[in-house]
Amino acid sequence: LTVLGIESSCDDTAAAIVRLQGDKAEVLSSIVKGQNDLHAEFGGVVPEIAARAHAERVDICVEEALAESGYALSELDAIAVTSGPGLIGGVLSGVMCAKGLSAATGLPLIGVNHLAGHALTPRLTDSVTFPYLMLLVSGGHCQFLIAESFDTFRRIGGTIDDAPGEAFDKTARLLALPQPGGPHVEKCARDGDPKKFPLPRPLLNQPGCDMSFSGLKTAILRARDGVVAEKGGLTEQDRADLSAGFQAAVTDILVEKTRRALNEYFALEPKNRIFAIAGGVAANGPIRDALMGLCREHNTEFVAPPLRLCTDNAAMIAYAGAVRFAEGANDPEHLTARPRWPLDQRAPALLGSGK
Ligand code: ATP
Ligand code: FE
Repeated sequence: LTVLGIESSCDDTAAAIVRLQGDKAEVLSSIVKGQNDLHAEFGGVVPEIAARAHAERVDICVEEALAESGYALSELDAIAVTSGPGLIGGVLSGVMCAKGLSAATGLPLIGVNHLAGHALTPRLTDSVTFPYLMLLVSGGHCQFLIAESFDTFRRIGGTIDDAPGEAFDKTARLLALPQPGGPHVEKCARDGDPKKFPLPRPLLNQPGCDMSFSGLKTAILRARDGVVAEKGGLTEQDRADLSAGFQAAVTDILVEKTRRALNEYFALEPKNRIFAIAGGVAANGPIRDALMGLCREHNTEFVAPPLRLCTDNAAMIAYAGAVRFAEGANDPEHLTARPRWPLDQRAPALLGSGK
């Protein structure tokens, strides 16, 4: 089973070819074209600019993915596309491209939830059996999910306000570091003292595994303004200390809440001791290391996909589409783009019916 995947829900245009044989998946090609340069002067993703760039690039990504895989379109078995959630203009660019290719070739069309793509990535890269506990931590999301099957994800907690990726991006903006902020804050934090600025860990000692990051964002703003008021600006060391403090606070929150989530999960599934991470923030080295340490303490297998499959890509979409297709899915040609689409709704079957 060989599937083309197309992704365009945020600011990366991507296409990939994935082959699925039984339970084994292989990424034959994965092309990702980012848009950082286009949005840099605005300090964030501008939806109209993103939509236009996706429309211009999606065909090129598909051509490059096919060329690199050595497959012709006619040799594929299906076309999978992110049909939500995300910026509607971008999602539409991908969906239109996929529909066009499907109409021209007669290949089945499969709509994929972008978050399901992230949540299934551990199975694309490792031999992970259901059920498993996962932390999906990205630019727009942060949730603990029990992945029970390809399309059943039970949310047992998550952020009640912002996502950590968004907080990394905001912190980078406050410190005049480039976007997307995550990798830059991580790098800057290496030379910093995480204890220099005392920062809050909201909800840390509350029961359950819900999290909050908006107070941390405000605290970074105040700490920065305090330094600026005192010295008239930030030194490199201030930037490093603020980055390190912020990253340490996010890490502490994620580790403590993962500890609680693991306990809740083990109470339900004592046998399958697997914890996986995915999403852009899962690319963060210190966060990965801290969660790996926690899993070792809990005698739990830790699965962390390679960095390029944590951030947005189309291999995860091709894979999620392939497994849906293998289970008999085939979405109608009037498949629609959905800006909102919570993962715990069993939505694929509803896609075409507009419910
Ligand atoms: P979502 O998947 O929730 O719709 P998205 O697709 O925009 O959002 P991803 O591409 O999964 O999000 O992740 C992007 C986010 O990951 C950005 O906020 C970015 O700053 C963050 N990120 C990327 N690399 C790192 C890193 N090394 N450390 C921390 N954060 C990172
Ligand atoms: Fe994403």
